[in-house]
Amino acid sequence: MLLDVENLKASYGRAQVLFGLSFRLQAGEITALIGRNGAGKTTTLKAVLGLVPATADRLLFKDRSILGVPTYKIARLGLGYVPEDRRIFTDLTVEENLEAGRRSGGSERAPWTPERLFRLFPNLAAMKGRRGNQMSGGEQQMLSIARTLMGNPDAILLDEPSEGIAPVLVQAMAEAVLAMKAEGVAILLSEQNWAFAAAVADKACVIERGEMRFEGAMTDFLGNEALRLQTLGV
Ligand code: ATP
Repeated sequence: MLLDVENLKASYGRAQVLFGLSFRLQAGEITALIGRNGAGKTTTLKAVLGLVPATADRLLFKDRSILGVPTYKIARLGLGYVPEDRRIFTDLTVEENLEAGRRSGGSERAPWTPERLFRLFPNLAAMKGRRGNQMSGGEQQMLSIARTLMGNPDAILLDEPSEGIAPVLVQAMAEAVLAMKAEGVAILLSEQNWAFAAAVADKACVIERGEMRFEGAMTDFLGNEALRLQTLGV
């Protein structure tokens, strides 16, 4: 078990938005947090990382409690984060962005190199010298993920990887996510796009108004029409 979360609660000021979520992320797996806009997916990722005030009965990463641990230390333990708003340096090139992502610590596996990452993201390989501000949203999103991998994480929290990217890149993104898994990186992704989540994830955690409605195999979620209609309207 990489990530073990029990009874996670979070609030913005006085407004509570997570009401006791429990879920797990196993090594070698992709788990999707699925839910409508505003369900609490982003807040869940941020609460795990200590970016919003949170409480939990248990919040373990690689069997260590990370509750109250500063976010940069959680990253050093090997938990990467790719936020929705694509944190890349827009005035640096693709290669420079990747170099800027190098970190000490993280996984004990062989460290990522730009060359290895370019095999995962062929789109980026074709634009090594391009600056961030000359890339499309989807390309920036891929660079943001690649940069996080340079920190050598065991697991990545990936916020809405398919959002706002051109349809032609969605397939490339799905392939990259599956390739990351094949390379041994576990992924917890947040998605409103259930079709994307269904294409890549092994497990589904369905969140509705800050509560977990379902945690189980993706195939079981897809087969449960009543649950799908209730939680996503599809
Ligand atoms: P989206 O797909 O739109 O990102 P989400 O499922 O990730 O949705 P969250 O962003 O986690 O949802 O938001 C959960 C709830 O918390 C929403 O009701 C939202 O309005 C509220 N919220 C989010 N960020 C803040 C904030 N900084 N201050 C106050 N309330 C917030």
